[in-house]
Order: sequence, then C-alpha cells, then structure tokens
Amino acid sequence: MAYDRRQSTLELRVVSGQGSVPPETVPAIGALSTQAAPPAVEVPARVLRKRRLMLLGFGSTLVFAVAGAVLWGVSWPALIGLALGGYAGMIAHEVVLHRLLAHRAFRVARATRFALAALTMMWPGRSPIWWAATHRHHHKHADTADDLHSPGNGRWRAFAGWLFAPRSLMFPYRETGDLNRLPEMQWLDRFQLLPFALSLIPCTLAGWAVGEMWPGSGMNAGQGLVWWGIFRAFYPLVGMGLVNVLAHEPSLGTRAYETNDTSRNVRWLAWLTAGTGWHNNHHHYGHAARAGFRPGEFDPSFRVIEQLEKMGLAWDLREVPEDVLAGARAVDTP
Ligand SMILES: [Zn+2]
Repeated sequence: MAYDRRQSTLELRVVSGQGSVPPETVPAIGALSTQAAPPAVEVPARVLRKRRLMLLGFGSTLVFAVAGAVLWGVSWPALIGLALGGYAGMIAHEVVLHRLLAHRAFRVARATRFALAALTMMWPGRSPIWWAATHRHHHKHADTADDLHSPGNGRWRAFAGWLFAPRSLMFPYRETGDLNRLPEMQWLDRFQLLPFALSLIPCTLAGWAVGEMWPGSGMNAGQGLVWWGIFRAFYPLVGMGLVNVLAHEPSLGTRAYETNDTSRNVRWLAWLTAGTGWHNNHHHYGHAARAGFRPGEFDPSFRVIEQLEKMGLAWDLREVPEDVLAGARAVDTP
C-alpha cells in the first residue's frame, strides 16, 4: 500500500491561516464543481519545490536545445526526423496515454501495456498514471471551474500553464485504481523521464551516423541530439496543448453533437494531432477506440490501434454504437 502516498494531502491540509507568511493555497480537486465556497488547501513545500525544479528543468532543456541548434545548425534530415519523430510521439500519446490508459478503449496484455507506456515516455508528458488521472477528471468536469485545462479558465493555462500548476502537481490518483495497483506503472510514474533521457543516446548516435555516411547532408551528432532528441519530444505536448485550447474555441471547427461542454471537431487540428482534434465526437462518446466517427474523419491513431489488433497485440476494440453514429447532426453546427 506504499502507493497511498500518491493519494495526496488535498483534503487533509486545510488552511489554518496561521504563520507570518500566508501559505500558497489552491482549491481542492473536485471542490470547484461541487461547492459554492470550496475549501482552500495549502500547497505543501515539496510541491512548490517540485514546481521550481520542473520549470528549471523544462526551461534549461529548451535553452540548451536552442543554443545547440545555433551551434550545430540545421539540415533537411534534421527537419524530416523532427517531423516524423514528433508525429510518432503524437500518435503514441493519443493511442497509449489517451485511448488505452485513460479511456480503456481497447485491451492489451499487461507486458504490452508497460512496453507501450515506456516507449511513449520517450516523449515526456508527465507519468502515464498522472495523465490518465487528470484526463478522467477532465471528462467529468470539462469546461467547469474545476477543469484543470479549460480555456475558460485562461488560454495560456489550458495550453501549458496547467502542467506546472500546484493543483496539477498535487493531483490525487483516486480514479486510476486499475493502474495504481501495477508495480511496473508505479515504477514508470517514479522514473517518468528515464525513457526520454535514454532516447537521447540513439538520437545523437543516429545523427552522427547519418553525417558520417552522407557528409553532404549537413547532419551531425549535435543536430541529432537537439532536433531528433529534444525538439522532437515537444510535439505531443504542443499538440495536446493546442487541442485543449483550439478544440474548445467557438470560432473554429464544428459540432456534430450537443454536449455539455464547448468541444469542437477541428479538421486541420485532427490532422496535426493524429485524430485528437475530433474533440466533439470524443467528448460525446469517449469510450471508443476511434475519434473520427464518420467517413472522411482522418484518424491515424485508430489505424495504429487496428494494426496492433492485426498483430495480435490488441483486442476488444470498443466501437461507436450505431445509435451514437445515427445521432450525429445531418449538418454540423458551426
Ligand atoms: Zn478523452
């Protein structure tokens, strides 16, 4: 039961108001949706330290990558690898973190789940359990004050700021019992940056190898590190951040279903985000293995899930019920 430490102290540390320096406080998770006057909870010092460390690590990595790009330059292989590697990460986040772990839209063997989750962490996005926990909460409280990344609570916050917010860092793993009980997922929760760190080694070596074999390409080890290793890893973070903001933006896309939130289907965003941009479909029926429900709704993540099924690695893909398909508006509302 060691994992109970992850059940956070949100309800326990109700602010007393004592002390010379007022503590930083945040509303308890769930409180904003259920109570008119939510209790504030104190942000523990360890969470503030974690936030500082995350911001320092994130910022210094970005500064290093930009400096490296200036120092080692850029080339066509670097940019092609960035695009392919970035999009592969977007698919991994959508297939594994979103549809498999958060929504359980299909089933895999336990070893396969761990292997997929570990591979997906080559593109950091916090831990798989944290991802599933915050996302299940998002669907329950979409576009309310309690939603961690509703653009109604601020666009920048919805895009990236929420990742560093104390409420996000303190998020309790209450609704992820299916994942909490697995030691290998706990391990991945603890060492969530390890796959990304390890991935930098082959990226650097591959950059060096391409430069050696094809000197005219302009490729080198440094470019492999920054373009294929670091910048590549940002793609899913940026993609998911864009969905958080733009797939709830009234001036973009359409709505096929009436939902209790502002979710929208944005075609070009769906292409960029491997199917995630069919956000209104997904918010209407989130259990399905597919997000593109109708012909012409490009959903490469579902194609990958189908391939996993053909390889015998995935089964019990949850389909969109006929009545849900039939319930879509004949003409989407703008
Ligand atoms: Zn979802």
